[in-house]
Amino acid sequence: MSATHTVENQVPELAGFNAFALDAALREGLAREGAEWAVERVSAYGELAGGELISLGIEANRDRPRLRTHDRFGHRIDRAEFHPAYHRLMQLGIEHGVAGLAWREPRPGAHVARAALSYLHHQAEQGTSCPLTMTYAGQAVLAQVPALAALAGKACAPLYDPRDVPMAEKAGITLGMGMTEKQGGSDVRANSTRAEAVGEGAYALTGHKWFFSAPMCDAFLVLAQAPGGLSCFLLSRWRPDGTRNALRLMRLKDKLGNWSNASSEVEFDAAFATRIGEEGRGVATILQMVALTRLDCLIGSAAEMRMALVQALHHARHRRAFGRFLLDQPLMRNVLADLALESEAATTLALRVARAVDAAPRDGSEAALARLCTAIGKYWVSKRAPAFVNEAQECLGGAGYVEESLLPRLYREAPLNSIGEGCGNIQCLDVLRALQRESGVREALMAELEAARGRHVAFDSALGAFALPSDPAEAEPMARVLVERMALLLQAGLLLRHAPEAVADAFCRSRLGGAHGLAFGTLPAGAYFGAILARAWPEGVER
Ligand SMILES: Cc1cc2nc3c(=O)[nH]c(=O)nc-3n(C[C@H](O)[C@H](O)[C@H](O)COP(=O)(O)OP(=O)(O)OC[C@H]3O[C@@H](n4cnc5c(N)ncnc54)[C@H](O)[C@@H]3O)c2cc1C
Repeated sequence: MSATHTVENQVPELAGFNAFALDAALREGLAREGAEWAVERVSAYGELAGGELISLGIEANRDRPRLRTHDRFGHRIDRAEFHPAYHRLMQLGIEHGVAGLAWREPRPGAHVARAALSYLHHQAEQGTSCPLTMTYAGQAVLAQVPALAALAGKACAPLYDPRDVPMAEKAGITLGMGMTEKQGGSDVRANSTRAEAVGEGAYALTGHKWFFSAPMCDAFLVLAQAPGGLSCFLLSRWRPDGTRNALRLMRLKDKLGNWSNASSEVEFDAAFATRIGEEGRGVATILQMVALTRLDCLIGSAAEMRMALVQALHHARHRRAFGRFLLDQPLMRNVLADLALESEAATTLALRVARAVDAAPRDGSEAALARLCTAIGKYWVSKRAPAFVNEAQECLGGAGYVEESLLPRLYREAPLNSIGEGCGNIQCLDVLRALQRESGVREALMAELEAARGRHVAFDSALGAFALPSDPAEAEPMARVLVERMALLLQAGLLLRHAPEAVADAFCRSRLGGAHGLAFGTLPAGAYFGAILARAWPEGVER
C-alpha cells in the first residue's frame, strides 16, 4: 500500500464530556432558579448527554421508524417500530426524570431541574424529546383529575416500558397529544372529530388527526366535538376490556427532520375514550398540557443552539487556517462570541421561564410571568435557532454540511420548535391575548424588566422607549415587533443581573443599542471576545 497523503489538521472527536459541567450558564441558572438541590442528578445526566446519548442519537436517527399496520396473520396492530437506540434513549430519559421528575418530587425548583434535564437530553437527541415532553406536559392535566391519579403515577414513574400492551399491565406509561386535523391546526375549534357519549363518562370518537406524534405512547389527550362543544378526551391504545382500541395509523409523515421519532396520521373508528374536564372546555383543559410543551420548545431551541455552539467552538479550537487556529482569527472570534451570547441569552431565559412555571402555583406574579413569557420565549428562541445552527454549521466549513458531524441533524431539527405547538404568529397573538385578558401579566413583565434598570445605558434607553400597547387588538399587525422587543429586553435584563459584564454589555450594545448587523458575527469592536469565549467553552476541557 502506498501512502497517498498524511491526514493532518483534522479535529479530534468531541466525546465523553460533561454537558452540564462545561455549561456555565446552565450551572449558574440551575442554582439561581431554585434547583441547586438537583445538581448531582443533572450533572450525571450531563455526563450522559456528552457521551452515550450522542452515540445513541446517531444510531436512532440512522434508521427511521417503520409503520406496521397489520401482523403476519392480517390482524390490525397499528404499530410504529423504532430502532433499539430510540428505546434506550427513552429509557435513559425516563429513568433520569426528563418526563417525570417535576411530578414525582414536587418540591420548589422541580420544574427547573426537569427543564435542565430536558435541555441536556435535547442537545444529544431531539426525536425522543417529543414523547418525553408530551409525557411531562400531559401530567399537568392528569394531575387535576382524582380518578386519573393512578395513571398520573405511572406517567411520572422512572420506568420505561415499550411493550404494546394495556396500561393496566404497565408500571410506567407515556403520553401523547392529538389536536391538529387536516382542516386546521392553529384553529382547533375547526376540529371535526366527533365524540358520542356511550355512558358512564365514556365516548366513542370518530374522525382523524393529521399530526399524531409518537403513536406508540400508551395514552393521548385528544380534542373532539362532543354535544356540548369541543372537549378533551383521554384515549389509549387499548380499551379497558383488554382489546385493541380503534385507532388506525394511516401513514407516517415523511419529515424534514426529527427522524428517530414517528409522527403519524391517524383515524379513530368509534375509538373508546373518556372525557377529561367538562364538555365544551376542551381547549382550556388541553392548554394546561400545551403550556408545558411550549416551554419545552423554548428549552429545546436553547439546547439546539448550545450543542451547535459547542461543536463550533470545539472545531475552531483545533482547526488551523492561514497559519492560526480558527479560534484565533479575529473575524471568527466575532462570529463565535456572537453565537455564544445568543446561546447564553436563550438558556438563561429558558431557565427563568421554567422557574416561573415552577413557582406559578405558589405565586401569582410568577404565574402571570409564566403565562406571558412561555409564548415570548418560544417565539423568539425558536425563531433564532435555524439561523444560529446554520452559522455554527458554517464554522465547521464543509464538514458541517456532512452528516457525520451533528450539525445537519441539528439544522433539520431547528425549524420544528417554531412550527409545532403553535407557530410563531400564534405565539405572538397569544402574547396579545394574555396582555389583554389576564390580570397581573403587564405588571409582572414590567417588574421583571425594571429589576435590571440602571445597569446599562442601552438597556435603560430601550426600556424607556418600550411601551405596552394600550389596545392589544390594534397591535396585531405589529405583534412580532412587540414580542421581539419583549424577548430582547427580558434576555438583556437577565444577563445584566446574572451574567458576567462582558456578556451582558456585548448583548445590550448589539441587541438593544443598534451596534449589530443582520447576520451573526457583527458584534461591535471593543466587545470582550476572549472573556465571552472562555465562558462558553473553557480552555483545555477536551479529554
Ligand atoms: C413534526 C411535527 C409533529 C407534530 N406533532 C403533533 C402532534 O403530536 N399532535 C398535534 O396535535 N399536532 C402535531 N403537530 C402539528 C402542529 O402543532 C401544527 O402543524 C401547528 O400547530 C400548525 O398548525 P397547521 O399545520 O394546521 O397550520 P395552520 O394552522 O394552517 O397555520 C399555517 C400558518 O398560518 C399562521 N396563522 C394561523 N392563524 C393565523 C392568524 N390568525 N394570524 C396570523 N397567522 C396565522 C400560522 O402561524 C402558520 O404560520 C406536529 C407538527 C409537526 C411538524
